[in-house]
Amino acid sequence: MNCSYCNDPLTEEEIETPNIVDDGYHKYPDPETGEKICDECYDDSFRGTCLRCCEVVDSVDLDADVGRLIGLWEDSPGSGEDLSAGYYRVLEMPFYCSSMLGGGWFYTRSLEWVRDLDDDGKTAAHESYSNAGPICKDCEEKILSSLMSVDEKEESVLKGVEQ
Ligand SMILES: [Zn+2]
Ligand SMILES: [Zn+2]
Repeated sequence: MNCSYCNDPLTEEEIETPNIVDDGYHKYPDPETGEKICDECYDDSFRGTCLRCCEVVDSVDLDADVGRLIGLWEDSPGSGEDLSAGYYRVLEMPFYCSSMLGGGWFYTRSLEWVRDLDDDGKTAAHESYSNAGPICKDCEEKILSSLMSVDEKEESVLKGVEQ
C-alpha cells in the first residue's frame, strides 16, 4: 500500500495507525475513500509548528480564527492605533491587511489585547520571520490561565474534576 499523496510505500505502522486529521467537521483523508498518508506528507500538509512551544501540532490547532489568540511578536502598525507586541484575541476577520509593496498593517479594532509576551513568547518572537503568528491551543490555555486569579483557577480545576 502506498501513500495517497506522494505514492511512497507506507510503513506497517502508517498502515495500522493511519494519519487522520479530525477538525470536528471533516476527516482528512476521508476514511471512506481508503486513502492513507505517510508521516512525512501528514506533517507537511496537516501539521505545523507552534512557535511558542516548538511542538508540532495539527494545523487546525494553529488556526488564527475568530476567538483564537495570536502572538504579535513585535510592535506593529495598526489602522488607527499602532499595536504593541503581545497576545491578542481575534475578534473578526480579516485582522491583517498586507500591502503589495511589502509590509502591511493590522486592523486595530479586529484584535483585542490579552496580555504582554511571556518568556516563551519572547523566545518565539526571536525565532519568528514575521511579526505575528498563530499559537497552539495548549499555549492558548496556558496564556489564558496565567491571567486568571487564584480563585478562578481553583474553580476551573474543580470543573475539570466534575467532567
Ligand atoms: Zn506521502
Ligand atoms: Zn504552542
